[in-house]
Amino acid sequence: MSFKNLELTQPILKALDAQGYTTPTPIQQQSIPLVLKGRDLLGVAQTGTGKTAAFGIPILQILDEQKNHRKGVKALILTPTRELAIQIEESLAAYGKYTKPSHAVIFGGVSQVTQVNKLRRGVDILVATPGRLLDLMNQGHVDLKQLEIFVLDEADRMLDMGFIHDVKKVIKSLPAKRQTLFFSATMPQEIQNLANMLLKDPAKVEV
Ligand code: AMP
Repeated sequence: MSFKNLELTQPILKALDAQGYTTPTPIQQQSIPLVLKGRDLLGVAQTGTGKTAAFGIPILQILDEQKNHRKGVKALILTPTRELAIQIEESLAAYGKYTKPSHAVIFGGVSQVTQVNKLRRGVDILVATPGRLLDLMNQGHVDLKQLEIFVLDEADRMLDMGFIHDVKKVIKSLPAKRQTLFFSATMPQEIQNLANMLLKDPAKVEV
C-alpha cells in the first residue's frame, strides 16, 4: 500500500515524499478515502497512529481543489492543548507545502495580537484550543459562517480537561451543513453521546 493508491493529488504526494513518508498508516489508509468522499468520520485512535495526517491531508486536498475561493475559515480543527495545536499546524505546513490553503493556530496563555492579525489576513484552516477560540469568536475576530469541515480531536481529553462545555458552545455556532470528523482514543458514554449528536451517518475507523 502506498499513498499513490489513495487518490491524492500531485502537490500532496510531493509534500509527503519530501516528508519521507512512504506508507500510509492504518488510520490513514482507512480515513483518507472516506474524508475525500465527504463522509463524516468517527475515528477511535490515539496520538502516534498518524491521525493528524488522516484528517489533515484530505482537508488540504479538498480545499486546494476548490475553484470559488471565498474568504473565511473553511475548516476548523479543535484540539485540547496548546502543544497538540502547534503540532497539528506544523503538520499542516509540512503536508501543505505545495497546496494553496492557508492555516493558523490559536491557543490561550499568550497575547492575542499576533493571532488576531493572522486571522485578519484570512485563514482557510484554523487550528484552535476551545477557550481561546471562544474568546476570539466573542470579540468578532473569528467568523465560522463559511465552515465546511469540522474536526474534533481528542474528544475524550476535552472531557477530562473540563473543556466539554466550551466545545459544545463552539459547536452551536457552526453551520449545520458540514462534514464532521470526530477523533477520540476512548469512547466513554458521554463522548459516544456527543458523537451521536454531531455525526451524520458516520463511517467508523478504529485502530
Ligand atoms: P500523529 O499520530 O498524527 O501525532 O503522528 C505521529 C507521528 O508519526 C508524527 O511524528 C508524524 O510525523 C509521523 N507520521 C504520520 N504518518 C506517517 C507516515 N505515513 N509515515 C511516516 N511517519 C508518519
